[in-house]
Amino acid sequence: MKGIVLLGDGELEVRWFPDPIPGPQEVVVRVKTAAICGSDIHMYHAPKGCGSKHHLIAGHEPAGIVDSVGPDVTLVKPGDRVSVYHYIGCGKCKNCLAGFWQWCPETKGLGAHINGADAEFVLVKEQNCFVLPDELSFIDGSFMACAAGTTYSALMKLQPNGATTIAVIGLGPVGLCGVAMSKAMGARVVAIGRRKIRLDLAKELGADCVVDAADPDVRLELQRLLPGGVDLVYETSGAPEAQQLMVGILKPGGKACVVAGRGPEPTINAAALIGRQLTIMGSFVLPIWMVPEMAAFIVRHKIPFEKMVTHRFSIDQAKEAFELFDSGECGKVVFEF
Ligand SMILES: [Zn+2]
Ligand SMILES: [Zn+2]
Repeated sequence: MKGIVLLGDGELEVRWFPDPIPGPQEVVVRVKTAAICGSDIHMYHAPKGCGSKHHLIAGHEPAGIVDSVGPDVTLVKPGDRVSVYHYIGCGKCKNCLAGFWQWCPETKGLGAHINGADAEFVLVKEQNCFVLPDELSFIDGSFMACAAGTTYSALMKLQPNGATTIAVIGLGPVGLCGVAMSKAMGARVVAIGRRKIRLDLAKELGADCVVDAADPDVRLELQRLLPGGVDLVYETSGAPEAQQLMVGILKPGGKACVVAGRGPEPTINAAALIGRQLTIMGSFVLPIWMVPEMAAFIVRHKIPFEKMVTHRFSIDQAKEAFELFDSGECGKVVFEF
């Protein structure tokens, strides 16, 4: 089978790999869609030869059809349409038993520690497969694997509702999920980002107002739109200036959740949290037990993930696909098989 390998320093290759064979309690999924994530871009730009990742198949946002199963598989069968959860834990430690496989000390992430999903087939444990309801497409399944999962889990911490205003900072795919899912939860949504294509997508997804972060008067514009500030912030950009904006626009008692970070330097002045009694939380993907509940939410509210996909590529166009996603002049970029 073909798989994408990120070599570092902005280079990649499509290489041939042996087709995977499932062992006990393992499943091979024939990938139908695999999306590119911001975290893939970090790996794409990492210095060459800085780790073992650079010979693995990349990617961790797959959905597809169960192709073959190993011995003792009871949860799925060939032909099932599935979304794939991308961390595999030991299954025995406290975090695994609590459903937080991403916190397992031995956790293995697709594309980070083991072969990932940007390939014709991906090998995973049967427990990693979530059977998609008929209402959900493979694109929905790819979003659930990471961007939507990250967002749903963060929003469960923030609890936006019809009485609150939430600012979503950063309008890449994770931020766009934040706009659509916060709207579905009833909140008033202010979308803050750069690039016309992403501001337009945020509008199309129901943002009540959009603000161009590149505008030198962005602070004044936000003060005009939101006198008194916002109740909640969902920060997805990881940019130091965005984190400062996040603290600046929160109301007294406000809460923020961050899902991206860059650079070693602290950008938030802890003293700024004291007077207004702000709460800043981190969130990292989602626990596996949350997947069925999120799927039911997506079905009930018809979250339009397909609208966020602006470009679709074949695996042979991997170079073009990564260059485009890296440029930011796009929504979600997806490989289709
Ligand atoms: Zn991802
Ligand atoms: Zn574990």
